[in-house]
Amino acid sequence: MMKKKLLIGSLCVICILCSTMLLACKSEEKIDGGLEVSYDIKCALDDESCVLYVTSEVEILNKSKVAIKELPFYLYPNAYLEEGGAVTISNVATRERDLIYNIDNINMKVELNEDLKEGENVAIIISSRVEIPKGKGRLGYGDGYYNLHAFYPRLACFHNGSFVVVPYSKIGDSYCFDMANFKIKINYPSAYTLASAGEQTNYKENEKYKESVYCIDNARDVALSLSKKFTIFESEIEGVKISQYTMGKQDYTPFIANCLGYFIEEVGEYPHENFTIVETPFEYGGMEYSGLALINESVSEKEFVIAHEIIHQWFGLSVGSNSYKECWVDESLTNYLTYYYMDIYNKGGYEENMELERKRYKKFLEASKEKYGIGYMPRLDYNLEEFRSESEYANMVYGYGVLTYDGVRNVIGDKKFKKAVRDYYENYKGKIASKEDLIASFNKSAGKKVEGIFNGYIESKVVF
Ligand SMILES: [Zn+2]
Repeated sequence: MMKKKLLIGSLCVICILCSTMLLACKSEEKIDGGLEVSYDIKCALDDESCVLYVTSEVEILNKSKVAIKELPFYLYPNAYLEEGGAVTISNVATRERDLIYNIDNINMKVELNEDLKEGENVAIIISSRVEIPKGKGRLGYGDGYYNLHAFYPRLACFHNGSFVVVPYSKIGDSYCFDMANFKIKINYPSAYTLASAGEQTNYKENEKYKESVYCIDNARDVALSLSKKFTIFESEIEGVKISQYTMGKQDYTPFIANCLGYFIEEVGEYPHENFTIVETPFEYGGMEYSGLALINESVSEKEFVIAHEIIHQWFGLSVGSNSYKECWVDESLTNYLTYYYMDIYNKGGYEENMELERKRYKKFLEASKEKYGIGYMPRLDYNLEEFRSESEYANMVYGYGVLTYDGVRNVIGDKKFKKAVRDYYENYKGKIASKEDLIASFNKSAGKKVEGIFNGYIESKVVF
């Protein structure tokens, strides 16, 4: 994600935290195969009460050797209780019988009647009512618009035979998701235009309502946005259909096509057939979802923010990360590649921007030492709960993280750097990469001891 301008000038933000909770049987050894998960979501928007009625059928195929007894879901609307958001679950069932479930704020555990063993599948049907909070959050509404993210119960990711449940932090992007397939059918008032990730497979309307169905496979996360004021621009690059939904007048599709085309050529295949940019009232600079990005309609440096969210399609979404535990793994690389790309697009500016980032970091460090004491020295690889403030998070992950990659590239050279980025994508697309995975991949590709350079920065031993 990209933070709107914080104290520093660079725009991004978001990543996460994760404490792990083992909800299935523990296993010390690596277990091949995880879960194959598909969401069939049907929802209806009541514009009078700003309520979304959601029925989700979650089909889960267990491809691991571990028998699963309990399924942990996130109920993210409950993260917005202070703002007026909430989700009420009215029923959880299989196709045959009701199930017992327990809710604790944003977490819901569903007890299975029988263990879900290797090769077995189960469909969990969850009926819910989501109160959408007023505001510019990922889930929020305002005058003539809705941003709808994480309105449906989302299964926690499943790694090496156990579920990983990530706490929710107001700082960063507290998410850690496996890939899943989505089909979303939404009924909404006809005054609105809908923007969604994926391919539209059905559409109908009458005087009062519209109904759209969108499908997207192998998606890390999805979101919808509705507005009464959208204008749509469209384009295409390398067979990818580009759409820009805007309340403004500027057509960014040539820029989007250039950026997408560059990363398809230089890094690897874009994993979807569509890419959609939505300009909407939004509290951050932008936020990435598979096949779609929300962009703050009034953010400055809009091209930088759009490029950042496009690059997340490769790093953060296709190559996933545990954004609670290791938020820098996708955010710092994404933000660095944004500077890298903008330098090519604008035919210059890279060195000036790195100098600007060094100055910002030094200023932030000096101010923080006054506040926290002379020994203050934050780390890039904190989890989200270890960051003392949103400012510290943004300065480290977006600013210092960029300088880390600048340092790595200065040592290994541009050719090896580009190869390392390409190889990292190839090695981890569709998976979740850890800090160790990232560094080991760069180390192997660059042919030098890149690990030492990364660690120097991570341990804050580099002085500017
Ligand atoms: Zn970001």
